[in-house]
This record gives sequence, structure tokens and C-alpha cells, in this order.
Amino acid sequence: MNLILLGAPGAGKGTQAEMISKHLNIPTISTGNIIRAALKSGTEMGLKAKSYMDAGQLVPDEVVIGIISERLKEEDCQNGFILDGFPRTIPQAEALDSMGIVIDKVIDIEVPDEKIAARMSGRRVCENCGTSYHLLYKIPREEGKCNECGGTLVQRKDDHPDTVLKRLTEYHNQTEPLKGYYEKQGKLFIVEGQEEVADTTALTFKALEA
Ligand code: AMP
Repeated sequence: MNLILLGAPGAGKGTQAEMISKHLNIPTISTGNIIRAALKSGTEMGLKAKSYMDAGQLVPDEVVIGIISERLKEEDCQNGFILDGFPRTIPQAEALDSMGIVIDKVIDIEVPDEKIAARMSGRRVCENCGTSYHLLYKIPREEGKCNECGGTLVQRKDDHPDTVLKRLTEYHNQTEPLKGYYEKQGKLFIVEGQEEVADTTALTFKALEA
């Protein structure tokens, strides 16, 4: 199954993607994680993306479209994949269509802006492998340490309150129109984000079976 997870930054797409990945045994492709990895290894693409990311802006379409078109050609994507954080603009969705990639379902995780701002202040990420945690909702076994690799958990620069507001504005202006785009194709499934991750996951799995 080829899936897209839509939703505002901080709506919990990454966590839901992880659950679906395990459930269906298909990889999650996160453009944010790919860009952060490129940044860490100091590639030209990573450095180019940094200023946009730090300012809470979207990276130019041609950069992320290039990343995705290369990544989806890899072997592990041939039986399905979950796109987390792509597409984020109409031109990105059109690029997927013109690559001949058929999307089966788009799951949109809806969380009100007020809740997002509060949630993002508790978000932490492993600086080594990129796994996400939350101080309230997804607590690591050992404080400040990643369950997967033991790496140090840090707050992303773009999760700071001012940047979060900018990212939400970008989301409403540029990404939200994708709901209409996929609704017209009959592929949109809306999941209301719940207080408990497990409750959101139950709704996500229901949407997968619908
Ligand atoms: P994420 O980890 O998905 O929240 O992405 C972090 C940041 O990476 C975003 O705020 C953007 O600056 C950039 N980014 C990730 N995916 C995209 C995309 N599809 N289009 C443009 N920018 C992106």
C-alpha cells in the first residue's frame, strides 16, 4: 500500500507512520529526516536546506521532489511505503502524480493549532538516529536517551515556540490545500488526533481498513 500521512507539524504523523510501518512492514519515508541527515553529514543539499528549516519555512519544491524521486526508486519501496511530510505543497503532489506514483490512501491527522503548540514544546528527537519522543506522550525508557540506539535526545531548533507559529502558518497556506486535492481523488481519510497515542493509532488503523 502506498500511503501519505498529512497533518500539521506536531500532529503526530511521525508516530502514526511508525505504527503503520510496523503493522504493514513497509518503510516510512520522512523528507524531514532525510534533510536532517544530509545536514548532519554536511552535504550541499543539507546546507542549502538549513536556512529554510531553521526559519520554519518550507525547503524549495525542487529540492524535496529530487529527494523523493530518488528515494522511491530504492528496493525497499517496491511493496509500498508511507510518506511522512511529503507532499507539503500542490506542486509536490503533482510531481508525485507525474512520476507515475499511485497513492492508495491519504490519512490526515487533525489536531487544533492550540494543542499543537503545547505538544511541540515537549517533543524531543534522537540526535543520532532521528527517533521521536515526547516528554508526556512517548517517554523514553531512560531520561534523555534514545530507546533504539542510546543517542542523546534534543529539542529540534524548529520546535521552538516562534518557529512553531511560522510552521503552522506555512502549513495552513501551503499544505492544507492538499486535503481538497486528495479529497477530489476520493483518497482522503480524516483521523481526529486523540489525547492518547493508542487511541489515535486505533483510528488510523480503522482508516487503513476502510
Ligand atoms: P518535518 O520533520 O517533516 O517536520 O520537516 C522539518 C522541516 O524540513 C520542515 O519544516 C521544512 O523546512 C523541511 N521539509 C520537510 N519536508 C518538506 C517538504 N515536503 N517540503 C518542503 N520542506 C520540507
